[in-house]
Amino acid sequence: MSNLRFKALETLSFKDFRRDNAVKFPAKLSELFCQNVFSEETMRSYLTKEAFTSIQNAIKKGTKIQRDVADQIAVAMKDWALSKGVTHYTHWFQPLTGTTAEKHDSFFTPFESDRAIERFSGGMLIQQEPDASSFPNGGIRNTFEARGYTAWDPTSPAFILGTTLCIPSIFISYTGETLDYKAPLLRALSAVDEAATDICKSYFDKNVTKVTPTLGWEQEYFLVDSALYQSRPDLVITGKTLLGHSPAKGQQLDDHYFGSIPTRVMNFMKELEIKCMQLGIPVTTRHNEVAPNQYELAPMFEEVNVAVDHNSLLMDLMARVAHKHHFHILFHEKPFAGVNGSGKHNNWSLATDTGENLLSPGKNPKKNLQFLTFFVNTIKAVHDYADLLRASIASASNDYRLGANEAPPAIISAFIGTQLFGVLEELEKVTDGKLSPEEKTELKLNVVGKIPEILLDNTDRNRTSPFAFTGNKFEIRAVGSSANCAEVMTVMNAIVAKQLRDFKKEVDALIETGLKKDEAIFNVLREYIKVSKNIMFEGDGYSEEWAKEAKRRGLKNLKTTPEALSRELDQKFVDLYEELGIYSHREIEARNEIKLEKYSTMVSIEATVLADIARNHIVPCAINYQNRLIENVKGLKEIFGDQEFRTLAKEQMSMIAEISEHISIMKVGVEKLLAATKKAKAIEDSHKMAEAFCNEVKPLFNEIRNASDELEMLVDDELWPMTKYRELLFTR
Ligand code: ADP
Ligand code: MG
Repeated sequence: MSNLRFKALETLSFKDFRRDNAVKFPAKLSELFCQNVFSEETMRSYLTKEAFTSIQNAIKKGTKIQRDVADQIAVAMKDWALSKGVTHYTHWFQPLTGTTAEKHDSFFTPFESDRAIERFSGGMLIQQEPDASSFPNGGIRNTFEARGYTAWDPTSPAFILGTTLCIPSIFISYTGETLDYKAPLLRALSAVDEAATDICKSYFDKNVTKVTPTLGWEQEYFLVDSALYQSRPDLVITGKTLLGHSPAKGQQLDDHYFGSIPTRVMNFMKELEIKCMQLGIPVTTRHNEVAPNQYELAPMFEEVNVAVDHNSLLMDLMARVAHKHHFHILFHEKPFAGVNGSGKHNNWSLATDTGENLLSPGKNPKKNLQFLTFFVNTIKAVHDYADLLRASIASASNDYRLGANEAPPAIISAFIGTQLFGVLEELEKVTDGKLSPEEKTELKLNVVGKIPEILLDNTDRNRTSPFAFTGNKFEIRAVGSSANCAEVMTVMNAIVAKQLRDFKKEVDALIETGLKKDEAIFNVLREYIKVSKNIMFEGDGYSEEWAKEAKRRGLKNLKTTPEALSRELDQKFVDLYEELGIYSHREIEARNEIKLEKYSTMVSIEATVLADIARNHIVPCAINYQNRLIENVKGLKEIFGDQEFRTLAKEQMSMIAEISEHISIMKVGVEKLLAATKKAKAIEDSHKMAEAFCNEVKPLFNEIRNASDELEMLVDDELWPMTKYRELLFTR
């Protein structure tokens, strides 16, 4: 039992995961739904009519909850929680670290000297003060107030995790700056609600009083046996393998996709689904993904705020449940080189409180024009703010995936299908100004009127576009699997809100000049189509040709995180955020700074871990094996005559030389890498530092990795210290 790798493999083979962790579903999964959620139904039975109405108005209309009502709600929440064995409560929030945060406080409150009660008040429900000094803040808290507080978000329901009542909250500094993902998201959602409702009401349907953006995410992930995971320091520390030779049987056979799910994984999924049901996360699909040991899970779509919370909660749950089944879950976008990476598609649409999907055409020309309005405005928003959308999905880990041959490129384009594209081309020909009665009829019948049929037969799917229209929603496909959906959703909803505001102004201005409502809308949409056309692309987004074509069209290809982040502070984007009240200038700067720092830290950690593994694990192992070969050669020399020896020892001698070559490449490479890392770290300016890590440090990884991967093929399998790709990927 020489090394960690073999210990891990041995542990694994002694376990019977099928028997030990078998999970059985109850007769009806639906009966578990929302068991651990302070849901509308629970509220109805625990709250007075007054309190119930007040919280429902807060959820649905954004009205304020009075303090005395908050007291009533708190008592109801506590009673419900105590009935389920809960002892503690926490404000549950999403700081910019990327994970969720909790600080548990007990309901238990002593009074007099020997008595105690369970207490929870409106004040405790509304606000909590976590010790916030160690969360990322981009310098905000250093210069201003040292503390932040969390505030209850009544629009996302409270839930129970273990014996703790969790209260979804936002996280802000005492000076009012947002320090989390959710607070800006809520602002963007309210901005798009206002702008979209205004348009619906004025032009299409006066009964609409609220528009809610919807999100259906699809979460991809890898499962790795936990013993094997523990044997790989690179996986443990960076979430990805920094070296490792591709397995002989990679994805070539494509036999994993939609294949049968292994028993052990099935048990994990079942237990996870039970927990999801209880927590009100409506998961509906599960399947294998393209790569070995890669899977996907997706729920029914929900309103964005709740969907974002559910995704964060799910990622946390997944890690815990995986642990019970002796798995470690990998959310990294590219844990294994040469193997498919993981994404998190964000399906997005807009729904009215009259029950319509604004990105779905309707039964009459008016509804279809409404569809076209929201459809074209969305594309125009993505066209105008492509860089911002790109920046919102940028991270050190997603850089490894974007632009790889199985993921969308870093170029933002939109796929809408050839037939819908045809409709837009027709609309581009609409007359400037007033339309003749014949033209109106023609548009009604043969252009706009055709849309429902076209979409009914929407077999035209393109999986290579970062932004694709899929019949009744847009799918943002470039989001990374480890990301918090809130960031891309904040941008998406903000840019559409801004675009819809501008649209309304332009249409109203044309109506002022005497055009009819429909004429004005057609006139504005025509111009939007003209300017946005260059981001529409129907071909293979993964191809080399597209990169060239995009360049010709003047589209940006911001390949790396530092490049993408360098655009975020452009005046146009700052103006957008300030106009909509989503971020102040300071907040944008702080967030940009946090992301740059995070990037540099990630690459720096990867560099250090790679250097460590190369120097302390791989090189000694290679020398060890080389010594064996040397012994062998010496032995041959003793036994055989000179002539014969030369023939017999030829291969061994060339292997000895080859090993020396690789060792020397690794040694020199590590020295260069450590020097470059040190130099990058010393840079003051965070943008320049990130650039140095991107351009000076990261490119040095490959040479070291390649030498190590070559050695992996040379050295005796029994000596090799690092668990191999085939073991990580094919153990189930
Ligand atoms: P696929 O893209 O795999 O063919 P679907 O078209 O059924 O599957 O939908 C994929 C995802 O889109 C699902 O996770 C679903 O929740 C989500 N989705 C469907 N309709 C909407 C909508 N109106 N708004 C947001 N997401 C939606
Ligand atoms: Mg999808």
